[in-house]
Amino acid sequence: MSSLSLDRVSKSFGGVLAVDNVTLSVPAAAITGLIGPNGAGKSTVVNLVTGMLEVLSGVIQMGEVDITRLAPHRISRLGMARTFQNIRLLNSASVLENLVVGFHRHEQSGLMANILGLPSVSRERRDLVAKAHALLKRFDMERFAQLPAGELSYGHQRRVEMMRALASDPQFLLLDEPIAGMNDVEARQLGVIYKELAAAGIGILLIEHNVGFVAEYCDTIHVLNTGRLIAAGAPREVLSNPEVIEAYLGS
Ligand code: ADP
Ligand code: MG
Repeated sequence: MSSLSLDRVSKSFGGVLAVDNVTLSVPAAAITGLIGPNGAGKSTVVNLVTGMLEVLSGVIQMGEVDITRLAPHRISRLGMARTFQNIRLLNSASVLENLVVGFHRHEQSGLMANILGLPSVSRERRDLVAKAHALLKRFDMERFAQLPAGELSYGHQRRVEMMRALASDPQFLLLDEPIAGMNDVEARQLGVIYKELAAAGIGILLIEHNVGFVAEYCDTIHVLNTGRLIAAGAPREVLSNPEVIEAYLGS
């Protein structure tokens, strides 16, 4: 799949345009940054792309496929995964269970059967558990497998969300402020993983406030301000753009 693209996409809430005529592209095998002050419309873009919100106008495509009006589960099945700005995990379920649930895009027997623990799914479940362990290993999280997700630190919960998104084997990964609440060391470890995922072909949209992080890890950056795209391009060029500096300092 070549890219995820938005063509003149708008969304209004009560007559106010939260996303205003936005055109941007998230290519495969790269990290695309989306930055902008609070309320700029960044999370709304993710909600539109994943089908959680309906667009007012415009077209969203995954490669050649028009996904503008598809339901969230269909978009997810086409290979779109996301993490949430506010972490959403099954807090009392173990880290491992949280990941197994994340695999359901690929599961034959269905999520309900899995939850009900029907015998027909036991082999499949073993496979999923093995895959979950592989992800835990990759993220250096094996020691947390059996702990309730809600008991982990904020940084570790964000990793679980990230692993759960990856469990569905997505082609595009939308990360809404994934390093918020992390220290520099934790953030850098994730940055390295993002680079590896992009190198493996995944197209990543990274929403982040930490401009240093974005500059280091993104191939291109788009800047939103009050719903409008005000700049796009290489990090160095975009971050020295006077209008971008003004948008940040002015808020
Ligand atoms: P960002 O993620 O850039 O901080 P958001 O996309 O969350 O910004 O919000 C953009 C604007 O849209 C804000 O003014 C916000 O209050 C509004 N908004 C976002 N989601 C909703 C919603 N579900 N209902 C009403 N207004 C919303
Ligand atoms: Mg947001």
